[in-house]
Amino acid sequence: MAKNIQAIRGMNDYLPKDTALWQRIEGTLKKVLDGYGYSEIRLPIVEQTPLFKRAIGEVTDVVEKEMYTFDDRNGDSLTLRPEGTAGCVRAGIEHGLLYNQEQRLWYIGPMFRYERPQKGRYRQFHQLGAEVFGLHGPDIDAELILLTARWWKALGIAEHVKLELNSIGSLEARANYRNALVGFLEQHVDVLDEDCKRRMYRNPLRVLDSKNPEVQALLNDAPRLSEYLDEASRAHFTGLCELLAQAGIPYTINECLVRGLDYYNRTVFEWVTTSLGAQGTVCAGGRYDSLVEQLGGRAVPAVGFAMGLERLVLLVQALNPDFTAPPTIDVYLISSGAGAQSAAMQLAERVRDALPQLKLMTNYGGGNFKKQITRADKWGACVALILGENEVAAQQVVVKDLRSGEQETLAQSETAARLAQMLS
Ligand code: ATP
Ligand code: MG
Repeated sequence: MAKNIQAIRGMNDYLPKDTALWQRIEGTLKKVLDGYGYSEIRLPIVEQTPLFKRAIGEVTDVVEKEMYTFDDRNGDSLTLRPEGTAGCVRAGIEHGLLYNQEQRLWYIGPMFRYERPQKGRYRQFHQLGAEVFGLHGPDIDAELILLTARWWKALGIAEHVKLELNSIGSLEARANYRNALVGFLEQHVDVLDEDCKRRMYRNPLRVLDSKNPEVQALLNDAPRLSEYLDEASRAHFTGLCELLAQAGIPYTINECLVRGLDYYNRTVFEWVTTSLGAQGTVCAGGRYDSLVEQLGGRAVPAVGFAMGLERLVLLVQALNPDFTAPPTIDVYLISSGAGAQSAAMQLAERVRDALPQLKLMTNYGGGNFKKQITRADKWGACVALILGENEVAAQQVVVKDLRSGEQETLAQSETAARLAQMLS
């Protein structure tokens, strides 16, 4: 017998029992985005490799060890997107979406990173992200945070996610801070692990988000980024903090929050939870005012975030079990006997014409009535329509309320009206 071919490690199948909940969650998220006037953008899953190297930065986990990169048949180096911002900026420049205008965009789809698969961390995962171009605000930064906070409320998990904020200032402020930090780290090389030592010169800020507890302890005595912030970034950050306070959004300032991708400046934020084990960041983002220019466009202010949908679904499942997908169907149509097959199909189509919102499934493949009722239950139907030979001959149908067990016989022409009544 041939050997089974299996899915690639870390790349999941999403089965019908799960996709219903995914759809409901995605529907909730999209409704909130609509409510803020954000528009969807759909982007390719593959881009030219240099796009990600330039945008994300050479000395980052993503570019150094997580990208799925391969040569196209013509020798071009391509990469499965590890995140959505770079492609979004590329598209914005390419289609002239960014200059002398505002854009509030969102995208959803799979991302690819070669990481060690575990709960909440996969090699193909899904993000919903938002990107806003053309606004300097702290007001727009605050809007993005308010939008995400509204998501948590709509999904019933607001109690379990906390907002962490920081400002990483301008490029120049970071350059000054970088010198001070390297000076400090050089005096404590003995405490640094290999990763940190390698990063110390190439990307020293990344040492700040080291997960190594000894390094974290050392950093308590390190120079603080906040002391090096430029005036404009400081004012921007104060503005954001005030807006959030006025909007009643609690936050904590985490001075070690620098984010894993190089393109950020000023505001960075994360929504974190303690309910998912080690994979605690659900949603993360910040400002990236120099990225458009870095990718060849004209300078345009920008801010955005990305949310990991697998982590969000895990959270909703764990913390709000009442948030469930609706049953697959409302009504199951059962039939048996001569002429019933064709009559059932016709009745089903007539009901669908009259009630386009109704979810009606027709039994095929026969079986006695009892078996067919079991199938109706399996799909979550609350009403069964039953056609036997007698009903077909008399142009009637039996309508059975599967909750109460009551049933009645009606003219087929009255079916839709009766169902509308029962399901309203
Ligand atoms: P982490 O610190 O968990 O590795 P990150 O900083 O690499 O996260 P981002 O690049 O900011 O993550 O991506 C935004 C969000 O996407 C994360 O907060 C997380 O919810 C989700 N995410 C990132 N990588 C993965 C992955 N491998 N599997 C599942 N979700 C992920
Ligand atoms: Mg990561």
